[in-house]
Amino acid sequence: IVEARYVIGCAGLYADRVARLNGMLSTPQIVPFRGDYYVLQRERASMVRGMIYPVPDPRFPFLGVHFTRRMNGDVWLGPNAVLAFAREGYRRFDINLGEVWETLRYRGFRRLALKYWRVGLEEMYRDFNKAAFLKALQRYVPDLRLADLLPGSAGVRAQALAPDGTLVDDFVVNHQGGQLHVRNAPSPAATSSLAIAEMIVDTAERNFAFDEMKHR
Ligand SMILES: Cc1cc2nc3c(=O)[nH]c(=O)nc-3n(C[C@H](O)[C@H](O)[C@H](O)COP(=O)(O)OP(=O)(O)OC[C@H]3O[C@@H](n4cnc5c(N)ncnc54)[C@H](O)[C@@H]3O)c2cc1C
Repeated sequence: IVEARYVIGCAGLYADRVARLNGMLSTPQIVPFRGDYYVLQRERASMVRGMIYPVPDPRFPFLGVHFTRRMNGDVWLGPNAVLAFAREGYRRFDINLGEVWETLRYRGFRRLALKYWRVGLEEMYRDFNKAAFLKALQRYVPDLRLADLLPGSAGVRAQALAPDGTLVDDFVVNHQGGQLHVRNAPSPAATSSLAIAEMIVDTAERNFAFDEMKHR
């Protein structure tokens, strides 16, 4: 057991569980979405000389497949966004039945699934069908060929989902007593991470009784 006067939780995929363990609201619940990448064949990497991003669809916090040229010259293609069957489900067949059940029985997920079942199925199809993934990429680089795509890595996005089925796309920080929990930190990127850190420190300063501690 660890005892602390103040706690700042930033538990990503487990943010809701850690907050709940500390007596806070269980929502928004985290629903894991896996994102797989392909890597462009090295000889073809010169086709992509910068970052290529789609115009975001405001209905979803997922950007859609894009082209990321990395510092070492590798070009990553993706990611897609499919429901993961485990919070740490980095591979297609990683399954944690308890966590699948946790997702399925959540009212927010059922509402989301009802509304966007078609988009969800399309993503799943692309997940199993490399040609369909290629087609999504060819919207931006029509010369891409199936053989250009090598298997890449994967990540799992901790998507906060509100009970009404809304995909939460803003930062959520909850506080209560001596605790502060970052419940959703979607894609902060280098440009905003410092500002977010500042916001967290400010919130802690306002809500934690630091002054009281100084005078003890
Ligand atoms: C495929 C993919 C691509 C992405 N691309 C981008 C991008 O280009 N730009 C961008 O800005 N963002 C991107 N993101 C999103 C970005 O990764 C997240 O928004 C960000 O990591 C969230 O930060 P966090 O601190 O909330 O959680 P995390 O970075 O997940 O950190 C949480 C930490 O808590 C630890 N932890 C969890 N539970 C416990 C526990 N019980 N005890 C102890 N430790 C625990 C974990 O091990 C982890 O280290 C991407 C995400 C994915 C999945």
